[in-house]
Amino acid sequence: MLNWLISDNKTKEFSFKCSGCGKTHRGAPSFSFSRPAETCTIPKTEYDRRVYLTKDLCSIDESSFYIRGKLNIPIRDSDEYFHWGVWVKQTRESFYRYLESYGRDQTGDHSYGWLSADFYLDKRWRARHTDRMLKSDVHWGGAGQQPEIFIFESEDHPLAYDQRNGISWDHAVELTMNTIHPHYEEDEALAS
Ligand SMILES: [Zn+2]
Repeated sequence: MLNWLISDNKTKEFSFKCSGCGKTHRGAPSFSFSRPAETCTIPKTEYDRRVYLTKDLCSIDESSFYIRGKLNIPIRDSDEYFHWGVWVKQTRESFYRYLESYGRDQTGDHSYGWLSADFYLDKRWRARHTDRMLKSDVHWGGAGQQPEIFIFESEDHPLAYDQRNGISWDHAVELTMNTIHPHYEEDEALAS
């Protein structure tokens, strides 16, 4: 009689049979960038002199500052998130304040930052939303934890929208495919 009240709250794991490699990919998708995109434009010969980089911290020319954080996007119809490990630009003040307590418990503290959202854009969006830096709130974490990034609600951008509303299962598949098999679509086009 009361069955209808008892919701099925078993974890629904994200998984899909991949048309790129034929395998079944299981679990929350998680992709990280090892360095901020801005460092990629720096010539190799100047790189060591201009870029300071660790797994969580980066500065360029001692004038642009970044910290690494996580951006979690809910996958609808699943209990899991799509995880992006991304770099968020900080003011000099925020960066050095973060550095002072880095490695210790920073829970409850936060900073504002700017997130380069280019990585998220597929072909449909690229023309309309290039080089956007999205205003974000960066919630610092416990000892050894990366901060969590929340894009301002006022930002009109697919990534901001998806963080608030979640993405469909199919879109999560598409994003995963684009990331692990980036040439799949092109290969398909060539094959047909
Ligand atoms: Zn695959």
